[in-house]
Amino acid sequence: MGNKERAKERRDKRLQEISLLRTIPYSDHQRWWSKETVALVTGANRGIGFEIARQLADHGLTVILTSRETGAGLEATNVLQELGLSVVFHQLDVLDSASIQQFADWVQQTYGGIDILVNNAGVNGNLGTDNSVQNAQMVVSTNYYGTKNVTNAMIPLMRPSDAGARVVNVSSRLGRLKGRRNRLEDEILREQLGNPESISEELIERTLSTFLQQVEDGTWTSGGWPQSFTDYSMSKLAVNAFTRLMARTLSDRPDGQKIYVNCYCPGWVKTAMTGWAGNVSAAEGADTGVWLALLPDQAITGKFFAERREISF
Ligand code: NDP
Repeated sequence: MGNKERAKERRDKRLQEISLLRTIPYSDHQRWWSKETVALVTGANRGIGFEIARQLADHGLTVILTSRETGAGLEATNVLQELGLSVVFHQLDVLDSASIQQFADWVQQTYGGIDILVNNAGVNGNLGTDNSVQNAQMVVSTNYYGTKNVTNAMIPLMRPSDAGARVVNVSSRLGRLKGRRNRLEDEILREQLGNPESISEELIERTLSTFLQQVEDGTWTSGGWPQSFTDYSMSKLAVNAFTRLMARTLSDRPDGQKIYVNCYCPGWVKTAMTGWAGNVSAAEGADTGVWLALLPDQAITGKFFAERREISF
C-alpha cells in the first residue's frame, strides 16, 4: 500500500470513530465563547490532544491544532475540517524555542492572541511495568520545560475577556505528592512542593536537576523518588507544581484580564503512550480537559481534577 492509500485509510478510520461520538451541548446561557474564541492545543495530531481539539471545535470554538510534525498535523486538521469544524494548523515543537517564538509571532499577527491554552504534548519512555530512566532528560524536557516554555510565551498573548482566559495542563495522578504508593520520600520536600505559597520555579527545577543528576550518576534508585515510571512521575509532579505557581502568580490580575490555570489527569487512556492499553478512550480522556477549558462563570484556578472532580495534589 502506498503513502496516499495509507493516509486515506487513517482518515477513514478517524472519521468512522468520530461518527460514533456525541458532544454534549452546552445551553445558551452557559456558553461564554463563540467562533471568535481561539483555543490552542499542543501535540494535537493524535491521542488525547486530537480529541481535545475536536471536542473544543465541536463546541463552536476556533481551534489551532498544533503538532511538531507538519505532515501529521495537517492530516489531523484535514479530518476535522472535513467535518465542518473551525480548525487551523500550525507547527509547534514544544522543545524548540525557535518554533515556539515563530508560533507566538504568527498567533499575534493572525488572531492578536488566544483565549485558551491546552498544554497536552507529552512523552513517556516507559510502557507496562517498565521503569527505565533511559529517556529521563527527554521526558522532563518535554513534559515540564515544554509546558513551561509554551505557557510563558502564550501568557502575554492571552486575550482579556469577562470570562477569563484559561490554561489547562494535561498531567497525571502519577505526579501526585500524596499518592500512597508513588510519592517522594522526602517529607520536607513534599511539603514545600505541596504548599502553593512555598512553590517556586527555583524549587521545582532544583528538584528536577537533582533527579537528573542522579540518573546520570546512576544513584537515582536510592534517591527516594517515586517508584513507578519515575522520570514521567517527576515530570508531571513538576507540571502540577508549575500549575499552582502560575495560578498564584497570575491571581492578582484585575477583572477582565484574569487567567485561570488548572491541571487534570485524563485517566489511563488507550493511546500510543500506553500501547493502546488503558481503560478509557481518548474521547473520555479529553473530557475533563475540555470541561475545564469551558467552565462557565467560575473563577477556579490552581486546582487538580480527574473525571470532572477536584482531586488533591
Ligand atoms: P500520545 O503519545 O498519543 O500523544 C502525545 C502527543 O504529544 C503526540 O501528538 C506527540 O507528537 C506530542 N509530542 C511529543 N513531543 C512533542 C514535542 N516536542 N512538541 C510537540 N508535540 C509533542 O499520548 P497521549 O495522547 O496519551 O498523551 C497526551 C497527554 O496526556 C500527555 O501529556 C500525557 O502525558 C498525558 N497523559 C496520558 C495518559 C494516558 O493514559 N495515555 C495518562 C495521563 C496523562 P508526535 O505524534 O509527533 O509524537
